[in-house]
Amino acid sequence: MNRMQRRRLVNGGVLLVIVFLGFTLSKCFWPNRCPQGTDLDTNHSFLDLKSKLSHLERTVFNTKQTPPSFLTAKTCTFPNFDPFDPAIIKIAVGNKTTLRCDLDFMPLLTYIDGRNLKVNTTQVDISLGTGNLSHCRYRNITGGPFDYSSVEFSDWSKTFRESVALEEDIEFIEVECFRRKPYNVSISKSYFSLVPRRKHLEKLYNVRLKKRSIEYQPQETLNIVMVGLDGLSRHQFLRAMPGMYTYLTKTLNSFDFTMHGQLGPASLPNLLGLLSGSTLEEVSEWWDFAQPEDAFDLMFKHFENAGYRTLFSENNTKHGAFYWGNRKFLYPQASFWDRPVHLAMRADKGYIRRNGVCLGSRPISEFQLHYLLDLIGTFSDKPAFTFTWIDKVSHDDTPNVGNIEEDLFKFYQTLTATGYLNRTLVILFSDHGQRWGKLRLTPNGYVDSRNPFMMFTFPPWFLKKYPYLANNLRENTRVLTTHLDTHQMLLDLLYFKSKEHPPFYKSRKGLSLFKRLPDRTCNEAHIPSTIRLHLLL
Ligand SMILES: [Zn+2]
Repeated sequence: MNRMQRRRLVNGGVLLVIVFLGFTLSKCFWPNRCPQGTDLDTNHSFLDLKSKLSHLERTVFNTKQTPPSFLTAKTCTFPNFDPFDPAIIKIAVGNKTTLRCDLDFMPLLTYIDGRNLKVNTTQVDISLGTGNLSHCRYRNITGGPFDYSSVEFSDWSKTFRESVALEEDIEFIEVECFRRKPYNVSISKSYFSLVPRRKHLEKLYNVRLKKRSIEYQPQETLNIVMVGLDGLSRHQFLRAMPGMYTYLTKTLNSFDFTMHGQLGPASLPNLLGLLSGSTLEEVSEWWDFAQPEDAFDLMFKHFENAGYRTLFSENNTKHGAFYWGNRKFLYPQASFWDRPVHLAMRADKGYIRRNGVCLGSRPISEFQLHYLLDLIGTFSDKPAFTFTWIDKVSHDDTPNVGNIEEDLFKFYQTLTATGYLNRTLVILFSDHGQRWGKLRLTPNGYVDSRNPFMMFTFPPWFLKKYPYLANNLRENTRVLTTHLDTHQMLLDLLYFKSKEHPPFYKSRKGLSLFKRLPDRTCNEAHIPSTIRLHLLL
């Protein structure tokens, strides 16, 4: 082979690499074009190429240094990247203006007041002009038969112009209002979630609570409120919501778990670990994606059996943590489950907008947090375990996630103002970091992707009463944790210092965050080899 032939061969090879990279980037750079299974973590050929090119070259070859210690450490350690590096801020932080969905949609002319659906006359005057509202009407939404993959609607109600009383058992409604001229033109459309008291079940909750109290004698009964933002790393939380972070750490003295790791690249393995205490690898011995997920035995049932009201809210009915392809539950996992209303909104063409962050004229975060606050308000003196999973805002539009900071801030303020925070553990958290986009292609983004954020807010009296627990939690903010550990702590809290062993099988995976955690290897923490930070060497 002469020199010319060798050069042609090398050029050809370089061209092939460029074509391959271009093809992979074009598929995965934008989230909508990158279906699950081909993102940066699960496409291993892409991961190998990109990580070796971008990460190793920059950290090892270019600087002529020995490999960084985090790549060769025996325990799972995290490298120190500056989250506020100006070059990263440029890519990572976008629009922080509060998300407004009402500016490009029909006005919201009705609201819920207790069990009444009312017309907002002030808004009618602003949007239509006084006297221009013809009438409104509503219909009930219920989950379809069998597996809640469809919904059923009642007939439309009688029309009303001011207010209408809703029946006690109604959970979800669709509301439409019409203008006077031209007649019969729909001028407002909205969906609402309600929390019925279900008085016929009160005795059951009371007797379960009494059973827990007498048989197990737990020392405390705290509510547990979990609010998850899909795909948000700790560093991105710090960058995009600095006000929220300061409020949580300085005003509410929340615990910031700085070395929280992930149990898998997607939502399912992480939320499965959190809610069931099992790893995906473990359940894959007896479950595959075509089987009902009810077999996971999520922890809602433990709380329900102990007399807690339970809520499970997941907005994405098609590509969510527990819904993707054939994956589904056959039965509701919690007493209050808003899947029917999200299915109804999804079926209403044009109602869910801006890549899923707007539900009509309401931001998705506001819609879901309102449902949660409604439950808290309805059962303020009864224990509750709630899980609210918000995906689109943080998962697909990570740079702009700051635009829901105000909703979160208002949420915590309501919990504080009502005194609910004083009897509740609030967990604000994520499952994994960003999986695609410009930021993900940087060394910072690569490390961030393995470090989802997690913040615990306990009532101050609880930490004062149990100082050694406060101390353990504080120490644990500086060591590797996963949601298997969160799971164990939540079960410890449900039967807090009880006289008897809790009435369920407790997974042996994970260590309760109430105990001082040791330094662990990735194996000991059950972090799969494919997503470890020292994968590269
Ligand atoms: Zn996720």
